[in-house]
Order: sequence, then C-alpha cells, then structure tokens
Amino acid sequence: MDHFLYRDGELFAEDVPVADIAAAVGTPFYLYSTATLTRHYQLFDDALDGMEHMVCYAMKAASNQAILKTLADLGAGMDVVSGGEYARAKAAGVPGERIVFSGVGKTRAEIRAALEGGIRQFNVESEPELLVISEIAASLGKTAPITVRVNPDVDAKTHAKIATGKSENKFGIPIAKARAVYAEAAALPGIDVIGIDVHIGSQLTDLEPYELAYRKVADLTEQLRADGHNIRRLDLGGGLGIPYTRSNEAPPLPSDYGALIKRTVGHLGCEIEIEPGRLIAGNAGILVSRVIYVKEGEGRNFLILDGAMNDLIRPAMYDAHHDIVPVVEPDAGVEQQPYDIVGPVCESGDTFAKNRMMPPLRAGDLVAFRSAGAYGAVMASEYNTRPLVPEVLAKCDQFAVIRQRPDFDEIINRDTIPPWL
Ligand SMILES: *Cc1c(COP(=O)(O)O)cnc(C)c1O
Repeated sequence: MDHFLYRDGELFAEDVPVADIAAAVGTPFYLYSTATLTRHYQLFDDALDGMEHMVCYAMKAASNQAILKTLADLGAGMDVVSGGEYARAKAAGVPGERIVFSGVGKTRAEIRAALEGGIRQFNVESEPELLVISEIAASLGKTAPITVRVNPDVDAKTHAKIATGKSENKFGIPIAKARAVYAEAAALPGIDVIGIDVHIGSQLTDLEPYELAYRKVADLTEQLRADGHNIRRLDLGGGLGIPYTRSNEAPPLPSDYGALIKRTVGHLGCEIEIEPGRLIAGNAGILVSRVIYVKEGEGRNFLILDGAMNDLIRPAMYDAHHDIVPVVEPDAGVEQQPYDIVGPVCESGDTFAKNRMMPPLRAGDLVAFRSAGAYGAVMASEYNTRPLVPEVLAKCDQFAVIRQRPDFDEIINRDTIPPWL
C-alpha cells in the first residue's frame, strides 16, 4: 500500500494535491511519500523482530539525501555499491558502522576511503578483491571486516538483467569454492572474516529461490564453523519484488519473508542483515508528467508526454510496466480508449506503454506513473539535453523540492572548451 490516493476527485501525495506540486515545480518530476518510505522500512524491521538484525537500505534504488536521511533517522543502515554512494551515505549522516559495501568492482581508492571513513563490512566478490582489501587495510594498520558473497546457483526467476544468483552471472564466488576462499581469507593479515553474504537478484515475486539459497547458506555456515571460522553475521541480500500492476497477484509480504528467514537460518544465532531497495522505495514514488499533445496516428492515438525515457528508463531497459493514472480522477464508468504513451525523445524506444487503456485525456492534463520510486530518478540522464528530472518529497501537508531542476546554463557550463578551439 502507498499514500498516493484519490481524494475529492484528484490525486494526493499524503495530504498534498499532486496538481499543486506540479504548479509549483513544473513537470516532469518525481514525488516521494515519507509515510510510505517509513512504512516499508518498518515492515522489514518488524519482520525480523526477535532476531538481532539490521535493515541496510540498498540505496542504489533511490539515493537522494532526503530519502537517505528519512530512512537513517529510523535506524536503517545502507548498502552501497560505489565510492560515490558511500560518500552520499556519509553526507546524509549515516555512520560508517551502518554502511555495508557491496559490488564486484571496488577500486583501491574506494576501499581506502571506506576503511578510513569506517565501514560495517565489505561484501567481497572475488579472491583478487580479498587480497587488495587485506593489503590496504594492513597498510593502514587496520583489519577489514568482511563477508564473502557466495553465488548459490539458484534461479531467481526474474528478468535476466536483474538475476544475479546463477553461476553464469558475474556476482559472488561459487558456493562450491567457498570453503577454500574462507581459508585463504582467514590467513590474510588485514581481514576479519565475520560472515556470509548472498544476493540472488531483484524483483523476486516468489519466495522459493530464497528458500533454496538460504538453506545453502545455512549449510555453509555450519561447514565454515566446523572449519574454525567465527561466522556471526549473515547478509541475506535484497530483491523482494513489488506489485507493478493493480491486477497482479500480490508478491510475498515482508512478514512472509521474515518468517522464511527465521525458518531457514534462525537457528544459527547469527546477526541478520538484509538489503532491500525496491520494496522500500518503489511504491513510495511516482513520476508526474504532463500531456503535451494528443496525436492521432494511423489506427492509433499517441499521448505525447513531457516525461521521457531519460527520466524513467525502466520501460525501455527492462520492458517494465508502470500503471499510468490521470491526476484528475476519471468519472466512474467513463469509456476508456487505447493510447500509445510516449515521450519526446528521438528514439522509438521512448515508449512507456502501447495500447494502454486510459480515460480520454487532453493536452495539459497531468498523469502519474505509479511504482516509479525505485530505479527511476537514479537512472535518469540528460539525454537530448533534457534537464535532470527534479525530485520532491511530501510529508503530511508539506512538500519540498529535494533535487532542483537545473537550468540550461548549468547543463551547458559543465562542458569545457579546449584551448585550441
Ligand atoms: C541491487 C542490490 C540490492 C537491492 O535489490 P532490490 O531488488 O532493490 O531490493 C541489494 N543488494 C545488492 C548487493 C544489490 O546489488
């Protein structure tokens, strides 16, 4: 559930009319709900109640400072995948002890910065990375807390671009090799082996792959303990899916997921970490856009919006579906008609939906893309020199712009002309 609901015939974000924000900010823009972010974080936190745990928000889903601060104030940790994200988390006030560093390609500079600034743990994805972390930590007179990300070779049954737990994917160390790698890690001077990490993919709508993966992690925990390793923390990754359509079967709830965690690894006495991104931010954000033209094509009508693929790339990149709703609530029983809903960018891929049944719309009308809070604004670009899409956060009857729309001069002045021109 979210806090974008019709009230008196128009769409609200919490207690603010979306049309009022559009009038103040201009379109397109992303709009987040504080209450929804809070609710989703709380669902995960409650689901792990009774176990020592930390919910580390996978901030690549939506990484605005205001969103990070909202979650951090509730006690969330952060899962970061780059030096930039690490710096962003620190800038939002998240202490190093609550930041987990994931990713297959951590550079020396990134590792050094995290060791100097404080880190909860590195989730190590390869043997060469292990050696580099040890070397840098030792040179700083520190030991780096690490887990090894194991690849459990399970099929997450999700879109190929976001599946990460099969042996063919670039992520983690094959689980069959794990004992050898842990032995190697334990012998290194700059490394403190604290646990195991696994993350099998994103937008999982079925708990079975988790069940398979977590059972393998439980077995591995016992083997590694028998080998003499003090395994005391399990990072179980993120990836729980969200409903992108109203009609969809509902994906599993965080409470079901929590029960699964307790059932599969609860007996081990480990501290549990999870890294949800999409489920926290996805339905906590919408993209608001305005119809520029309604164009009658041959055999089809186009709704041409002022939002485009550079603002929301998920339909072009993952064939993703977003429900698109008018900001003025249509009258009950109004006859719907099919539209191809597109943006102004010069690519046919700039198509949000084909043959989408919508109530009749006219130029100037506002529409909202639902479930756009995760992997939306963070993937936006300035392709076609369209200004980076702004972000707005609502809370009760207040709203604030949390990322300004740059003007053309700002964009153009980022380029520099070499002296010979
Ligand atoms: C992307 C990612 C996540 C978050 O995935 P969601 O589907 O957004 O929950 C968690 N952990 C790691 C390592 C990731 O790469």
